Amino acid sequence: SLTSKTALVTGSTSGIGLGIARALAQQGANVVLNGFGKPDAIETERAAIESEFGVTAHYSAADMTKPGEIAAMVAEAEQKLGAVDILVNNAGIQYVSAIEEFPVEKWDQIIAINLSSAFHTMRAAIPGMKSRGWGRIINTASAHSLVASPYKSAYVAAKHGIAGLTKTAALELATHKITVNCISPGYVWTPLVEAQIPDTMKARGLTKEQVIDEVLLKAQPTKEFVTVEQVAAIAAFLCSDAASQITGTNLSVDGGWTAQ
Ligand code: NAD
Repeated sequence: SLTSKTALVTGSTSGIGLGIARALAQQGANVVLNGFGKPDAIETERAAIESEFGVTAHYSAADMTKPGEIAAMVAEAEQKLGAVDILVNNAGIQYVSAIEEFPVEKWDQIIAINLSSAFHTMRAAIPGMKSRGWGRIINTASAHSLVASPYKSAYVAAKHGIAGLTKTAALELATHKITVNCISPGYVWTPLVEAQIPDTMKARGLTKEQVIDEVLLKAQPTKEFVTVEQVAAIAAFLCSDAASQITGTNLSVDGGWTAQ
């Protein structure tokens, strides 16, 4: 049980992050939600976590492209909830384009959100974890932390980067009872995946059905999407005592994608 622990999950107003926040709250952790969205929809999710699981849930609107807002988010979480014991770096965006047409500002934004924000959150949260002698850092990487696909240069670069950052942090924190791991899902049916279908249709000249069958599920031998709940269950497991010797790993949940 994670009762009396606090988890901060970046990018948790939607998709995988929301699923992870809910799974940790179900184990008894207080949670800090973060991400963008309609204020009333976010408030509904926040209040649902409190009432369903009997924990405290806060929301931070910090923008993961802004190091100052990230540091303030961690400080506020420590102040209001007492600690950040579990840090889940999950916020991420995608952009699909050939390198020579890839907008420079999209490259910078993806590197900032999908990679650098994890450095900034860790930098802010590690001192508290060290002083309490316990911590769990979980980064949502991707099958694209291990293999590439065309037209996703910034995403693949950022995800390979997060896999390396995970290993480095795991080594630095190994004697502090702080584990650092990443989870690498294949295709999970979330707004992020749905939103890239039109761009992939354009980039490759395919129909929606062709993108789903010939691009997305083509990579996944099981021919099924991963679910948010399956990813969230692994995050909850990584927070358990049973997982205390698992550190520096990259756990694939990809229907066999990266076995090929
Ligand atoms: P999603 O679009 O449903 O959720 C992304 C979350 O990040 C949202 O809460 C959004 O508001 C937040 N976000 C975006 N920009 C932000 C910013 N600047 N500051 C703060 N929050 C911001 O997507 P998802 O599929 O749930 O993706 C979550 C993570 O999982 C990402 O890191 C993604 O790369 C990774 N992932 C997704 C898949 C998949 O197939 N869906 C596969 C592998 C990895």
